[in-house]
Amino acid sequence: MADRLNGTVALITGASSGIGAATGLALAAQGATVALVARRADRLEELAGQIRDQGGTALTLVADVSDERQAKEVVERTATELGRLDTLVNNAGVMLLGPAADAPLEEWQRMVQVNVLGVLYCAHAALPHLVRAAADGPRQVADMVNISSVAGRVARSGSGVYNLTKHGVGAFSESLRQEFAGRHVRVSLVEPGAVETELTGHNRPQIREQINQRFSSVERMQAEDIADAISYIVTRPRHVAINELLIRPTEQE
Ligand code: NDP
Repeated sequence: MADRLNGTVALITGASSGIGAATGLALAAQGATVALVARRADRLEELAGQIRDQGGTALTLVADVSDERQAKEVVERTATELGRLDTLVNNAGVMLLGPAADAPLEEWQRMVQVNVLGVLYCAHAALPHLVRAAADGPRQVADMVNISSVAGRVARSGSGVYNLTKHGVGAFSESLRQEFAGRHVRVSLVEPGAVETELTGHNRPQIREQINQRFSSVERMQAEDIADAISYIVTRPRHVAINELLIRPTEQE
């Protein structure tokens, strides 16, 4: 285990699979105590077990981050039970694609609730703790890493609401970055291209097939590739802030 994050606490939303799970492992491997948040308890427990087997410390918190009360509760429980909060990774998200004309409104609502409101609720609850950690923590700096997407840069036909949510995360992150820079709370944006995770699996079958077709000739990234980038961001020295990282599979146009 490395020690760059020794003495710090990181909360990762959407830690039950994909990028969030890989990030939990990566930050724990750097010495952070991790709070793992998602709705699927069994998957969180499995990951926490893996982290403990590797000598790390993990707390599992089952919650739906699109619920204001639950989002606040996981942040407060982390700070209370683990003593502090130095790093928030706002990763939980859903991507439900397809033409706007016949889209179920429920899919649009879910994306706004998780990708936008979930991020806002966690950020709002976490900011006072991050400011405190930056003032008196072991590293004298704190981090909020928000997971956007290439879709937060480039809008495409058939992904309008996902584009809306991720563009919004980008704008919110840049505004927070400016507001908190002087207090040594770094706010970073990560924009992955196609990563092999469960993300596309929640789409309607025909849409899922179209997404798979689109990327059939591309070697997708692994969740660990993005976790690696997140780990890089939060282990920079205090005077270095990685504001934004756009990461595509080599073959993705
Ligand atoms: P996964 O589907 O594997 O992971 C999504 C995670 O979010 C799961 O742990 C899920 O856990 C959690 N989640 C979903 N809804 C909620 C909720 N209401 N409350 C709490 N947790 C929730 O996908 P990825 O790892 O790929 O996605 C992670 C992030 O990366 C997302 O923000 C996504 O938009 C972004 N991204 C992914 C890309 C890709 O190609 N895979 C590309 C660009 C960005 P549970 O169901 O247990 O609650």
